[in-house]
Amino acid sequence: MPRRKKKNQALSLLSRIPLRLTLGGLISIVLLCLAAFSLASNGDLRVVLGLPKAAAPTPLPEGRLAVYYLDVGQADCELIRIPREDGSTYTVLIDAGNNGDEEELLQTLDKLDVEKIDLAVFTHPHADHIGGAAEVLSAVETERVCMPPVPESQTPTTATYENMLDVMIEKEIPATYAEPGLVLYEDKGVSLTVLSPGEQDSWDNLNDWSVVLKLVYGENSFLFMGDAETPVEKQLLDSGTDLTCDVLKVGHHGSDTSTSPSFLKTAAPNFAVISCGKDNTYGHPHAETLKKLEDQGVTVLRTDEDGTILAVSDGKNVTAAPLSPAA
Ligand SMILES: [Zn+2]
Repeated sequence: MPRRKKKNQALSLLSRIPLRLTLGGLISIVLLCLAAFSLASNGDLRVVLGLPKAAAPTPLPEGRLAVYYLDVGQADCELIRIPREDGSTYTVLIDAGNNGDEEELLQTLDKLDVEKIDLAVFTHPHADHIGGAAEVLSAVETERVCMPPVPESQTPTTATYENMLDVMIEKEIPATYAEPGLVLYEDKGVSLTVLSPGEQDSWDNLNDWSVVLKLVYGENSFLFMGDAETPVEKQLLDSGTDLTCDVLKVGHHGSDTSTSPSFLKTAAPNFAVISCGKDNTYGHPHAETLKKLEDQGVTVLRTDEDGTILAVSDGKNVTAAPLSPAA
């Protein structure tokens, strides 16, 4: 099947979450709110909305949130497990490691008791991010996929990418294009939001099309940068996007093409996680990036030295440490 046709077929399965209100709709809502507010006794909007007057902060579900930064060599793969009130877990997979490591990744997911993936985000279609995508989607029930709106002209023609689309078509897995502000998951005190990219972008570099995500859990937050580089960081800074986080998944495996000083200063993480392979040919992480993190007093964890890293949050405090000593 020609690539273009296949992609079109895949995209015909995509269901986009309606993001934008029409201008008319927005104005109506604002007017309605204002009218209701003006009628409200004591001028308290919470009364109008039928909410308790002094509502306590939204309680978090029982349990703690876990983020695994899996050791997949010179590649990326993160697993997020969000506890829900009913005792179940919402599972998010970000990327799927490299070609050739599929079996190991599936074994790891099995060890972590991942029976179902509620959402898989494939940050961008480079082999070190979607290498195991087809195999994971084949083997593990997956509810939904999110991917970047890469223009047709920049879409790769690799077998890795084709295979991923084939499985999505075969299993009729719905997908959504990333868009800034798109909320992929939301529950009491928890949200997973796309910060970048969007259809309006015109990045030349496929890395910059990486889906950048922010996960908020109570008072804690996590940034996932994919391989996004400095131009994306600058655009996010210029747009005033809230980049503060407790844990930063460092962009582009710790390359000096990412993690600009202004970005790092604004994000102000306590922990930085670098996903890279031992003795990789790119020299990742670059010394310059490590120096910047060190200068800012950020605790750095690296999958090449620490193995899989686990960050845990109770909504107030985050700890991040190697899951077990690296071999
Ligand atoms: Zn990469």
